[in-house]
Amino acid sequence: MKVLAIGRNYTEHIKELNNERPDEPVIFTKPDTSLITRNRPFYYPDFTKDIHYEVEILLKISRAGKKIHEKFAHKYYSEIAIGIDFTARDMQQKAKEKGLPWALAKGFDGSAPISEFIPIDDFDLANLNFHLEVDGEKRQEGNTNLMLFSFDYIISYISNYITLKKGDIIFTGTPKGVGPISIGNTLTAFIENKKMLNCEIK
Ligand code: MG
Repeated sequence: MKVLAIGRNYTEHIKELNNERPDEPVIFTKPDTSLITRNRPFYYPDFTKDIHYEVEILLKISRAGKKIHEKFAHKYYSEIAIGIDFTARDMQQKAKEKGLPWALAKGFDGSAPISEFIPIDDFDLANLNFHLEVDGEKRQEGNTNLMLFSFDYIISYISNYITLKKGDIIFTGTPKGVGPISIGNTLTAFIENKKMLNCEIK
């Protein structure tokens, strides 16, 4: 399986990082070794001093497809989850300045704690609330109605270039409010009011 992610999908987050608003989705990958499951802790690595949390809604691909039409994209996922796209902002900033890839800044071990996946069933995916708390304090709050590119558009877009396979995971972008983590923090992520993910920083 692979992990794909979209950057710059929420206007207010684009502004806070002084990025340009994209005409097309900005896509990057995170290796499968970036995943942390079952609420296991994250160990702060020594090659960065500025890791930021980015809380995001995740889609899990339920069947293989390529060149998927946006109109049929909803047939390719049936479960969602919430996860954190940890980003070594100092490394990413250096890479950006030199026009180099973000692979290490976004893809280091443990850079993607994720919750369990739950069926879409009762959720209104076009109007889904989610938020992140750090040590019990709300830091990020988003609603999928603020996305520049919808879930279906993202799937259609990616599948023009990369074949999607069953089990692939897509990070769909972070809302505003990103910030640094420190050893000792506990991150908790919610879909609507359901606590989905807990991650201790060690
Ligand atoms: Mg992100």
